[in-house]
Amino acid sequence: MTQRILDFLRARREDGPCLVVDLDVVRDNYATFAKALPDTRVFYAVKANPDPAVLSLLAQLGSCFDTASVVEIEQVLAAGATADRISFGNTIKKERDVARAFQLGIRLFAVDCEAEVEKIARVAPGAKVFCRMLCDGDGAEWPLSRKFGCDVAMAPRVLEHAQRLGLVAYGLSFHVGSQQRNPAMWDGALKAASTIFRDLAERGINLQMVNLGGGFPTKYLKDIPAVKAYGQAIFASLRKHFGNRIPETIIEPGRGMVGNAGVIEAEVVLISKKSDADTVKWVYLDIGKFGGLAETMDEMIRYPIRTAYDADAKEPCVIAGPTCDSVDVLYEKDPYFLPVSLEIGAKVLIEGTGAYTTTYSCAGFNGFPPLRSYVI
Ligand SMILES: *Cc1c(COP(=O)(O)O)cnc(C)c1O
Repeated sequence: MTQRILDFLRARREDGPCLVVDLDVVRDNYATFAKALPDTRVFYAVKANPDPAVLSLLAQLGSCFDTASVVEIEQVLAAGATADRISFGNTIKKERDVARAFQLGIRLFAVDCEAEVEKIARVAPGAKVFCRMLCDGDGAEWPLSRKFGCDVAMAPRVLEHAQRLGLVAYGLSFHVGSQQRNPAMWDGALKAASTIFRDLAERGINLQMVNLGGGFPTKYLKDIPAVKAYGQAIFASLRKHFGNRIPETIIEPGRGMVGNAGVIEAEVVLISKKSDADTVKWVYLDIGKFGGLAETMDEMIRYPIRTAYDADAKEPCVIAGPTCDSVDVLYEKDPYFLPVSLEIGAKVLIEGTGAYTTTYSCAGFNGFPPLRSYVI
């Protein structure tokens, strides 16, 4: 929460929930990553918040970009970054999208199987590829499961295949799971990566790069380690596993770059009980899972919620969104403590919402418009 955001909200007259992102915070976050990992290039994960103002600020600061689609590539180019600063990091791409990206100048692609390597070899000759390794996401609050990456035993074969088809087998990538609160979680993946580096070197393929992925957390309700602690843990692991042959490294922060830069203002639409005996109140907001708070799925991400009554006594509440879908409940299994004095019509501030909110808000379920966003 920043004073600039509070001042902006005080002057705002429009109705409906909105996200306000403070670019000063994004600028600070970029500087913090650059300082904590000085020899590592930053590839901002565009999906976290693709607002043109966020992208152009990061382009000006010298950031590179991790994209997942042709549209994201075009958004980054429009923001002023050149194609050599963009990776196509999605492991699941249509061949015609790879071709289009190649036409736009993109030369760095992610793969996790031989079929994807073949698509790239056909339409992006000579491009660099990195192979994504499976990572179990232990300890992450938003794990990325088994959808991306291949087994460590399979990765060398995928990269050998790339080299054989005329591509550059450039390196490896992994993602330790989003909102990863344990800096030690990079160690296992780096150990596996170093084994693959040695293995392939013996076969004449010299990998150059390790993509350390995202996972850097944003402060929600629980405390998180500082970015510096991540930098130190990662560097120690690089030293331990690669000795004095530390490869080129990149990181792909999304949440950690923009999460704490944004605040959503929402309104209490209704407060009610389901029976006289009910011990838990239901608090319905004008934003829910379909309005941008999709990461409350399974109550995984618990946002800090501020009200004007926070000094008062609190009681357990179920918090739900405004749509006519019964899954549009944010916190119920683990009720959320809100002030007893909270009233219908009160505004609430949902903190840490700069990442993964606007992009998740849907086009108009029940006629509710997508989440409005202001970047200041
Ligand atoms: C989503 C994503 C990221 C960003 O992850 P955060 O946890 O938000 O930092 C980075 N890299 C890839 C490949 C991703 O898909």
